[in-house]
Amino acid sequence: MTSEQTPADGGAPATQGAQRSVPDEVPNHRPPAEPNLAGVASSGARPRRGVLSRRVRAIPASGIRRFFDIMTTMEDVISLSVGEPDFITPRHILQRAVDSLYAGETHYTSNYGLPELRAAIAEHLERLYGVSYDPATEIIVTTGVSEGLDIALRALLDPGDEVIVPEPTYVSYQPLTVLAGGTAVPVPTRAEDGFRLKAEAVRAAITPKTKVLLLGFPCNPTGAVLERTELEAIARLVVEHDLYVISDEIYDRLTYGVPHTCVPSVPGLRERTILLNGFSKAYAMTGWRLGYACAPADILEGMMKVHQYAMMCAPTPSQYAAIEALRCGEADVQRMVAEYDQRRRLIVKGLNEIGLACHEPQGAFYAFPSIACTGFSSMEFSERLLFEEKVSVVPGSAFGASGEGHVRVCYGSSIENLERALERMHRFVRRYSR
Ligand code: PLP
Repeated sequence: MTSEQTPADGGAPATQGAQRSVPDEVPNHRPPAEPNLAGVASSGARPRRGVLSRRVRAIPASGIRRFFDIMTTMEDVISLSVGEPDFITPRHILQRAVDSLYAGETHYTSNYGLPELRAAIAEHLERLYGVSYDPATEIIVTTGVSEGLDIALRALLDPGDEVIVPEPTYVSYQPLTVLAGGTAVPVPTRAEDGFRLKAEAVRAAITPKTKVLLLGFPCNPTGAVLERTELEAIARLVVEHDLYVISDEIYDRLTYGVPHTCVPSVPGLRERTILLNGFSKAYAMTGWRLGYACAPADILEGMMKVHQYAMMCAPTPSQYAAIEALRCGEADVQRMVAEYDQRRRLIVKGLNEIGLACHEPQGAFYAFPSIACTGFSSMEFSERLLFEEKVSVVPGSAFGASGEGHVRVCYGSSIENLERALERMHRFVRRYSR
């Protein structure tokens, strides 16, 4: 990874600037009151008014960018920080994209995406979760879930609308909310609950301004999965308070021994939910930038307005590859999930054994151990671990204030790497355990 690259998954999370302290304010809401006059060109040119918009200024730059820049200058670092599969996209999926290119499929597609792909998405969701979407009016193919999140928030929010965001949270949710003019309202989840979201916590955060509940389960960074009964309780609140749900289900296929509940399959939620999913994680296709959004037609049309002007359509070769993934990729998914599960057991056992207490993550490919035994802040822990033992993890504070006291360890890495990393971490913890 070069210093210019920003891993999309939280590898270079958006936190406040101070290097060694925990951000005391989650990336959020309040833009500076005055325009920034600092952008004065040198050598006598006329002063410019503040060049960046308030919304952009309100988003914190990555507080650990420096940390990642340093990592790229070091040798022999074991990176457990970037949240992407170490697998290469399965060969038959690659081949389908290559064939499409040689067949001359190098043009734009429909703004909605290839009809064949939308049909495959609809069949896939019906088969796995029994949820039905009309491929003609209720599905858009997007440039990853990242774009899906952006257009969903921009389609739904007016200035001042509040979005409830369970924390620790994926790094994009709060900044994208701010960019869409909304206000992010974090709702902490707790280690003692396995970081599962409780309906009561959601209820306590609802105000007359609440419009959206943004769910991301299985969760990056905690690995928490929501049970159907928990979702049913949350659904009653959503209906009672006339809210909408944006459900990022990018890790739906990566669960271990527990079922994933597709949010729109919960009674009362289909008409109020924008379902987002994609190909990055389940099919090891992060670089293809492909996802999809499903929603009732009126909501989808709103999102389409943003999508068609901002993006036009998702990449065409990737769409062909995605058809292959959905139609013929199931064995690959099963193979990779079995491998992640093995790694998950190894890392969770290993972390607990060396004194970093770790609840059992049931989904995604992250462990989120407590670092309390060292007394370090999560930023200090991560920096020291990198400098002293050459293992990179992500400070929990990068995922919001309630992630403090933990670090995120991604096990999208080989067993051999994980074993070496655990040895190094063991040495580190022995040195600093209180
Ligand atoms: N949502 C979550 C929870 C993620 O962890 C990531 C990437 O790490 C994304 C969305 C981005 O997905 P995509 O690659 O489809 O844009």
